[in-house]
Amino acid sequence: MNISESKRLFAHAQQFIPGGVNSPVRAFRAVGGEPLFIKRADGAFLFDENDNPFIELINSWGPMILGHNHPMIRKAVIQAMHEGTSFGAPTAREVEIAELITKMVPSVEKVRMVNSGTEATMSAIRVARGFTGKDKIIKMIGHYHGHGDSFLIAAGSGAVTMGQPDSPGVTAGTAKDTLLAPYNDLEAIEELVRFNKDEIAALILEPVPGNMGLVIPMPGYLEGLREICNRERIVLIFDEVMTGFRLAPGGAQELYGVTPDMTTLGKIIGGGMPVGAYGGKKEIMDFVSPSGPVYQAGTLSGNPIAMAAGLAMLGFLNDHPETYGVLNQIGMKISEGIKKINLELGYDYTVSHLGSMYSLFFTPEPVVDFESAKTSDTALFGKYFQAMLQRGVYLAPSQFESLFLSTALTDELIDRILEAHRESMIEIHK
Ligand code: PLP
Repeated sequence: MNISESKRLFAHAQQFIPGGVNSPVRAFRAVGGEPLFIKRADGAFLFDENDNPFIELINSWGPMILGHNHPMIRKAVIQAMHEGTSFGAPTAREVEIAELITKMVPSVEKVRMVNSGTEATMSAIRVARGFTGKDKIIKMIGHYHGHGDSFLIAAGSGAVTMGQPDSPGVTAGTAKDTLLAPYNDLEAIEELVRFNKDEIAALILEPVPGNMGLVIPMPGYLEGLREICNRERIVLIFDEVMTGFRLAPGGAQELYGVTPDMTTLGKIIGGGMPVGAYGGKKEIMDFVSPSGPVYQAGTLSGNPIAMAAGLAMLGFLNDHPETYGVLNQIGMKISEGIKKINLELGYDYTVSHLGSMYSLFFTPEPVVDFESAKTSDTALFGKYFQAMLQRGVYLAPSQFESLFLSTALTDELIDRILEAHRESMIEIHK
């Protein structure tokens, strides 16, 4: 495969951009080789600067649930562009999207729009601290909530991939207020709560984590967290930046029937534009400035172009709930196909799947938390990633990420993915 243009651009980029990329995992360091520079994307395909096509299984890390360059979203953005790109003042569209979000995610009674998932989680814990008057938070080991200081402690995603779970620059003072627990372990939470009685403002987690690879909550786990948080007056925050509007119109909380006090959203909510949001119970959200004392603001928050894209995306998903059945079928065909091929070839690896998210872990162990996720053979994953890329399938360049499927994946493309999987598995085990 000729990737000369990507190579040329990457060499040039490194002179002006740290590591040549604007977000660390993009650099392919966890899998070796050099990143592809993408020129355009359409439907189920990415095209690199040499015009090589790649079938997409990551979809911009989640947002492109209907595939790339969807005509409906393109139309909404172009229409909005005619009216100006930013006003820094309230707009009708912001009210419309806020109302739609509260309808789709009923635990969100009021919502504030921001510009990324990171902003959403940073703001949500500030509000939870302001609301409760307490300082400490609980976070799960291997969960990723963006790059806010409080969260870069035993974080998943790029932080794991880069081997820097505790980033320099995060002060000891900040780190001491972040308490850590393994996922899927209620007793660990009980213990933290016992030792930090009346000091914990919030418990934040990815209800279905995707940032240590996809891991499924054990039966009763989310319900158990809800009970502990009720009993201890801890604000339960579901970080649904990945799972929101993806696992169901109302996200993981709808799927599992567990209601958090606050929710953070991102990715799909912006239809591919930079958008995040946080929301929750009215009594908590009324603590946010200007109704309340907790300050949070943004020059470009609620940007009219971004809101137009988000509204088109959410409006479609709200009007077409059958989309989730379609996505689930696509997820089933791919994950079951992978399991079947692995079995035929005699490889015992764990495949984790839910709806339109899945991960193939190169370990026979059941993956239930970050410890078990780390039993995966990451060097073998790197080889698998490269073998799939050579066959025109674009995966997340790290073992510790979920893949995100889109409705653009036809049966014919799924067959091509599975064929690439078979060939790649044979090649990497030679
Ligand atoms: N929370 C979760 C669960 C995420 O997966 C991510 C990003 O992948 C974030 C927060 C941060 O979002 P952003 O990258 O938009 O800042």
